[in-house]
Amino acid sequence: MKDHLVRAISRDGTLRAMAAVTTDLVEEVRRRQQTDPTATVAIGRLATGAALMGSLLKGEQRLALTVEGNGPLIRMNAETDAAGHVRATVKNPMSGIPVTAAGFDVVQAVGKAGFLHVTKDLRMREPYRSTVQLATSEIASDLAYYLTTSEQLPSSVALGVFLETDGRVGAAGGFMVQVIPPGSDENIALIEERLRTFPAPTELVRDGLGAAQILERLFAGIPLDVKEETGLAFRCSCNYRQVYRMLSGLGAAELAEILLKEGGKVEVTCEFCGQQYRFSRDDLEPLLKG
Ligand code: ZN
Repeated sequence: MKDHLVRAISRDGTLRAMAAVTTDLVEEVRRRQQTDPTATVAIGRLATGAALMGSLLKGEQRLALTVEGNGPLIRMNAETDAAGHVRATVKNPMSGIPVTAAGFDVVQAVGKAGFLHVTKDLRMREPYRSTVQLATSEIASDLAYYLTTSEQLPSSVALGVFLETDGRVGAAGGFMVQVIPPGSDENIALIEERLRTFPAPTELVRDGLGAAQILERLFAGIPLDVKEETGLAFRCSCNYRQVYRMLSGLGAAELAEILLKEGGKVEVTCEFCGQQYRFSRDDLEPLLKG
């Protein structure tokens, strides 16, 4: 099944829901970042969370999630756009945390203390930025905490990544339910009750359920209208011009120093996709003149 995202709303307009299948894009992140299993699960959850939260973006808008904690992963970033492109990176891809019978200790990999930063570039004058403390460091509940406190949208979030024995991603996905104020007590009670025993997203994806089917099952008894289905895919937005602009921010003196040290060239590697950009002294001449 190809990665995809579905957004739906209850017919009475009191609940909004999104679900996503992200297996391929999380595997692509793992391959490019060379993450160990616990790091794969952590970055996979964040990338899936970004895809779900990005479902309301339009046009050229972008959303970025950053998790900074005191664990070995140090920092994780996941970004998405309105077209369902997702990219993600982790500062230290080797968490070094062994996988036990209890599963993947994402909390230890992220660290119990830290922050979640949310940046939304809505193509207004300034990007919207918000920071909350990590609530549990499990990612899903941290996003729910952010949405509930910062955006005043009481939310429930479930994210999951299943790994094959060789460490590759076998299934990944998630879903999110939001109360649209003032909400309906009856619907909230029903959904809360259902969430208590609802299967994990990875179980549903491994059973072959698509995003729409996951939402239909979650909302059984509550009439639901599917608003939109979008394909999801790993794609990095980096390009030569963007990297050049970044280098121009370094200043002439620093660039000259790098050129000297690197033997007349400057190489930049995109932290998200690994693409290398190479600039010769000639390329950088306009910047060296200041
Ligand atoms: Zn890139």
